[in-house]
Amino acid sequence: MNASCGQRSVSLRLSVTGRCPLRCQYCVPASGYRFEGENSLSLSEMTAFVEFLQETYGLRKVRITGGEPLIRPDIEQLAACLSALGVPDVALTTNGQQLASRAVTLRQAGVRRINVSLDSLDPAVFRRLTGHGVLEKTLAGLAAARDAGLLPIRLNTVVMRGENETEVEHLLDFALRNGFEIRFLEVMPIGAMRESFEKHFVSSAETMRRIAAHHELHPASPTGTARNFAVKDRDGRAGIVGFISPISEPFCATCRRLRLTASGDLIGCLGKDSRFPVRPFLRRDRFQELQEIVDTALSTKRRHEEFRGEASMAVIGG
Ligand code: SAM
Repeated sequence: MNASCGQRSVSLRLSVTGRCPLRCQYCVPASGYRFEGENSLSLSEMTAFVEFLQETYGLRKVRITGGEPLIRPDIEQLAACLSALGVPDVALTTNGQQLASRAVTLRQAGVRRINVSLDSLDPAVFRRLTGHGVLEKTLAGLAAARDAGLLPIRLNTVVMRGENETEVEHLLDFALRNGFEIRFLEVMPIGAMRESFEKHFVSSAETMRRIAAHHELHPASPTGTARNFAVKDRDGRAGIVGFISPISEPFCATCRRLRLTASGDLIGCLGKDSRFPVRPFLRRDRFQELQEIVDTALSTKRRHEEFRGEASMAVIGG
């Protein structure tokens, strides 16, 4: 059944590379991971898939991700292709390390808004959590993105016990001061977290309690998988804080998100290892077969079972 038959539209996370210069603790196993890249899909293969999803599943939202998308020099070209196809919502997720020099060109190419990973405001903790990231670079990227009008800017913070759970209020205040939205994510037992998930997991309820101790929270409209709250700090600065709770409040029942890896594997569920190679089907004369594959991928959504995904988000496309 397709979107025109009443099924809700899908959204796509389009991974453009499995490579990332950072080694975020929750993402990349200490042993490293196998890079994908040389065999990555061409821009025309990626846009063919997007066009197919638009026509068949009413696709309206594409998030460009990775690995780290900004290590590729042709992301602006990709964004321009997606905009030319009429995708209304072209977004990007980045670690922000190279954003300062790209914000203007990304905006000009049609990227509407960005999510930036930010797990700490302490340069030493930031460096430790990301392997060797430089906080100043991400902060410069955020300022450039705001100046370029890549709005709204959303900060993504994965909350990890023993690492950054005591920083959530500080991160929220930073977001409110700068006009950014912030979302606190529960860590998932995938990739690097398969072994140490129990040790690091912090529920959204706990993070929310920590914030509510000094901030007023009022329910606001949800966006995507985030439960949002209007929030005010002690100085009356207002903003939005979101909580993404894949563990304590799974949203699988309503999830219509697809992921395409850089090497052309379609993934219907983060919590499963099922992958569906689509590269041979990215041609109009094979779209019928492609539809069967996409339907199958969508049917793999986790129900009540545990997460079983082995792969890191860097490879899957975060
Ligand atoms: N390099 C980009 C970045 O840093 O934003 C995009 C890719 S990265 C894989 C995207 C997001 O994946 C991270 O911000 C983080 O929120 C999420 N992520 C990765 N591993 C995770 C895990 N085990 N649990 C929760 N979120 C995870």
